Amino acid sequence: MSDFKLLIGGKLVAGDLTMDVVNPATEEVLAKCPRASKAQLNAAVAAAKAAFPAWAATPIAERKKALGAIADIIEANAAELARLLTQEQGKPIGDATGEVYGTAAFFRYFTMLDMPVKVIDDSENRRVEAHRKPLGVIGAIVPWNFPLILMAFKVPPALLAGNTLVVKPAPTTPLATLKLGELIKDVLPAGVINFITDANDLGGELTAHPDVRKISFTGSTATGAKVMAGAAATLKRITLELGGNDAGIVLDDVDPKTAAPQLFQSAFQNNGQVCIAMKRLYVHESIYDEMCDELAKIADAAIVGNGLEQGTQLGPLQNRMQFDKVKELLDDAKKTGKVIAGGTVPDQAGFFIKPTIVRDITDGARLVDEEQFGPVLPVIKYSDPEDAVARANASPYGLGGSIWSTDLDRAYKLAEKMESGSVWVNKHAELAPNIPFGGSKMSGIGTELGEEGLAEFTQLKIINIAR
Ligand code: NAD
Repeated sequence: MSDFKLLIGGKLVAGDLTMDVVNPATEEVLAKCPRASKAQLNAAVAAAKAAFPAWAATPIAERKKALGAIADIIEANAAELARLLTQEQGKPIGDATGEVYGTAAFFRYFTMLDMPVKVIDDSENRRVEAHRKPLGVIGAIVPWNFPLILMAFKVPPALLAGNTLVVKPAPTTPLATLKLGELIKDVLPAGVINFITDANDLGGELTAHPDVRKISFTGSTATGAKVMAGAAATLKRITLELGGNDAGIVLDDVDPKTAAPQLFQSAFQNNGQVCIAMKRLYVHESIYDEMCDELAKIADAAIVGNGLEQGTQLGPLQNRMQFDKVKELLDDAKKTGKVIAGGTVPDQAGFFIKPTIVRDITDGARLVDEEQFGPVLPVIKYSDPEDAVARANASPYGLGGSIWSTDLDRAYKLAEKMESGSVWVNKHAELAPNIPFGGSKMSGIGTELGEEGLAEFTQLKIINIAR
């Protein structure tokens, strides 16, 4: 028997199938989890379709009230949700707690948005209005690095706009999401939100389903391309938030001692398993040695362990596949660069890799060119900032990037030249619900968050009246 249930049509139901969820810190089975069959996926879509007309007709004030109620419930159950998140995802309990409260904050933010009718022309001959209408059933597909907050990039704007949803978390991190489904079951009318799980076998079905009008997807670029192909036959709307290989560029006027802690955090938070983690660090030659030493010191001092243990700063990698991938990139980096901190896998259960700094490595090495999505940072020497920007841009990805300098004008000019959806100056990876977020190039299509993110869950409808 599982403590967890799917939510389909307002009812908590067992999965037709089950699967094990593993705790990445111990490699032990954490829970038996329901796994939906294709019939259950179809039932969830049918429930969302049936619930759509009434939800779309519900006054926006009521829909906002529901989002606020969900935020309250998340906060009231923060301790339980955070513990589950740590156990299934691996992140330290403090970070998990932050993710849970962040999730509530994202729900609350969307209660403040509206979708007013925009008058485009109101003249003697005509009145032209732009309305925002909901799309219908939305499929929300979420990865394993931030199961709750990435779900909250999608669910609140979709609901606010009057859509209904089928939410599918990643197979290795479904538990906190299912628990949330159970907690909010009675806040929304039956079928407005449905939670199903899979073993990586239902994402394609959901994407191809003729009754789903949009897929909002966060995950890898390779899967994103499959979503795009799968959505084509039914001309679904898609928003794709995909992988990245964010570069940070540190100029020669930066003090390594001051900047290193922040740079380290930008690269290693959530063990580097962040789409917008700093994944390549370009440092000017005049401060290169000192910066490498500072980063190595911080990496050596970081406490790696089970996220439930007090003091843990970095947990395990989330799953074996990712663990193996990062180990492979690390082994390759040992041939092309010099490991000055970490580089080892502790001899214990759990998918742990010590935070690793690799210096004397450059573009062309796999660790620099590929998305490592783990706690291994290449630090690359450069002499000309323009050249560093060109190297940062010479990537198929374009999610985020950052420039670090005490001279804001200089930093700004370089920031303008970076080809990415977000560029930060003297920080990296800051997201907020009111700041639109999206990738360029192979990092994605479309925007999440902010008013622009809300608009993506709507159909623009023009009413044009002759006078
Ligand atoms: P993934 O692509 O393997 O899986 C993501 C989700 O897609 C999972 O729920 C999975 O079950 C589902 N899926 C698998 N096959 C599918 C298919 N054929 N059709 C539809 N859905 C399918 O990604 P992951 O390994 O879980 O996550 C890591 C990746 O996600 C990294 O590349 C990371 O950069 C990216 N990411 C991007 C953002 C962003 O906002 N841009 C945020 C977080 C993570």
